[in-house]
Amino acid sequence: MSRKILVTSALPYANGAIHLGHLVEYIQTDVWVRFQKMQPKDQVAECWYVCADDTHGTPIMLRAEKDGITPEALIKRVHDEHARDFAGFHVAFDNFHSTHSPETQEYCNVIYARLKDNGLIEKRTIEQYYDPIKQLFLPDRFIKGECPKCGAQDQYGDNCESCGAAYTPNELKNPYSAISGVKPELRNSDHYFFKLSDARCQGFLRRWTRETGRLQPEAANKMQEWLGADGENRLTDWDISRDAPYFGFEIFDAPGKYFYVWLDAPIGYMGSFKNLCDRKSIDFTEYFRPGATTELYHFIGKDILYFHALFWPAELEHAGLRTPSGVFAHGFLTVDGTKMSKTRGTFITAESYLKTGLDPEWLRYYYAAKLNSTMEDIDLNLEDFVARVNSDLIGKYVNIASRCAGFIGKRFGGKLAATDAEWQKPLREASARIAEAYEQREFGRALREVMALADTANIFVNDKKPWELAKREGQEAELHAACSQAIEAFRLLTLYLKPVLPKVAEAVEAFLGIAPLAWNDALAALPAGHAIKPYSHLMTRIDPKLIDTLVEANKESLAPTAENQAPAKESEKKGEAAAAPVPAEANGPIGIDDFMKVDLRVARIVDAGHVEGAEKLVRLTLDIGESKPRQVFAGIKSAYDPAQLVGRLTVMVANLAPRKMRFGVSEGMILAASDPAGATPGIFLLAPDAGALPGMRVK
Ligand SMILES: [Zn+2]
Repeated sequence: MSRKILVTSALPYANGAIHLGHLVEYIQTDVWVRFQKMQPKDQVAECWYVCADDTHGTPIMLRAEKDGITPEALIKRVHDEHARDFAGFHVAFDNFHSTHSPETQEYCNVIYARLKDNGLIEKRTIEQYYDPIKQLFLPDRFIKGECPKCGAQDQYGDNCESCGAAYTPNELKNPYSAISGVKPELRNSDHYFFKLSDARCQGFLRRWTRETGRLQPEAANKMQEWLGADGENRLTDWDISRDAPYFGFEIFDAPGKYFYVWLDAPIGYMGSFKNLCDRKSIDFTEYFRPGATTELYHFIGKDILYFHALFWPAELEHAGLRTPSGVFAHGFLTVDGTKMSKTRGTFITAESYLKTGLDPEWLRYYYAAKLNSTMEDIDLNLEDFVARVNSDLIGKYVNIASRCAGFIGKRFGGKLAATDAEWQKPLREASARIAEAYEQREFGRALREVMALADTANIFVNDKKPWELAKREGQEAELHAACSQAIEAFRLLTLYLKPVLPKVAEAVEAFLGIAPLAWNDALAALPAGHAIKPYSHLMTRIDPKLIDTLVEANKESLAPTAENQAPAKESEKKGEAAAAPVPAEANGPIGIDDFMKVDLRVARIVDAGHVEGAEKLVRLTLDIGESKPRQVFAGIKSAYDPAQLVGRLTVMVANLAPRKMRFGVSEGMILAASDPAGATPGIFLLAPDAGALPGMRVK
């Protein structure tokens, strides 16, 4: 029977930009879907790829408030940005929708109602922190205070970044609202819970997680751990509601209560697909009725596995819907071996990558070459990225066409001789093996195979040396045959690379004058006499300078703000961990939390001097108790003679991002007072009272 497949990627949150970490998943999914779409119709009748922005929640509400726009306007803007970035990387969704849609709301209601009918929704009163100024219940990540274990200050409501302890917000000492800074009050509120601990859910999940193909082996093992031994009940009920004010869908039979992420975001998969079905006359029920023979796959990051492998299937099953055929989790992205970092410039947005002029297919190729079917993290090593792309794609692949195509055009009127030859046999026979690797999401293995075949083709070209044959008399036929065979080999390699390099494949199809390549086109060679178009450049080498430009462009130039602290991981966002956006006007009050982001230190001026060519600047060398003194350029020359400054104590901002100036790098800023109205002239350097030592924290 011919397969019908529905594929999803996790929903990006509508509160931040798409970055290279996100793209691992979208590229992985897109490659898999493109591969499916190349299969003959009697094997894969249809394959749909849908996604949507995850648009609801407190962070969206507060961010919109801060920007002075409606949440609807905010999510529209972000949707446009996300759609632009995905298109830029050739991620070809059949539908990129929004969870803020009537279709999603409809299925939220249906699923909730059915779970409720099944006795799996329960109302409970819980005690929660409430911000009396903002008049809202605070999500865990919007409450800060002292760690109950180690006493570290300014820790979030769920865990301590200093000692790693996990706790509930109610255990925090001296809690305050990260939004308004005030002390929150404990208030009671009714919440709705999905009873994942119910024996029916446990029994179902024990079976489901062990079924072949549902989960990767390591994920299935993890689930057994989470489920515990038979008879054990380790699963807890999940809170699926939030109180007003909240940006989301109001629960139809509970005024003032809204569906929280667990009963909202993933239903966006269905909402997006329903929207597509309505437009394309696809039978939605064929994909979501229980016992459906169609296939449903979710590509996700390993951090949301618990949710997609336990909560979501249990929710679908008990709402009388089909469950996923498979959940495919991938690992996280590291850059140069460590977590993406804003200070190092490796927290790279999709937009900046494209703006720098880097080819999106370079990254698609590199990610694909590193991806397999496991949950291992993948590393983007920037040096290796340049080397691998230049060596594989330019040195091995494109090179075949660029060395042979010209002769066909110039010497043979653009017409090929017979293209099929014995030496190409391995290239044709690899088709099934490469297909199997793509199907199993072993992209690295598929591409290693393709590059080995490219080696075979290059050996052939190097042996034949068309550029020498072309100079010799009477070798016309041999030159024609060699170049034609090489072009056929190039066609086969292009076919195998097409899921990864769709735009290059398109250009090759135009150059070869052929219909869009499908998988079975590996079986038949181009016929003798087939005319090709003149060859033009398909892809250039990566200039390593572009990588430097890219990293420089992503270096954080300002102190962190809520806006540029987009969460790196899905889990952080689902936990509403995005640095709390502070909804104060530009000059309005700020929370202590914002103030505490500024690291102020007592500094001793160990050296001071004039800066040649700078009228206002003094070059300061500052000791703040670090192993190496800092260099800071300060505009205080009109008020101070550098010689007088040496030995003095002052206060500096120690965590200001380094700034490159004409005279050198400035690694901080010192504090001085002046009259904004200018009535009293002068600049007055701040200084601590006697006894303060370099490096002491000022707060
Ligand atoms: Zn602690």
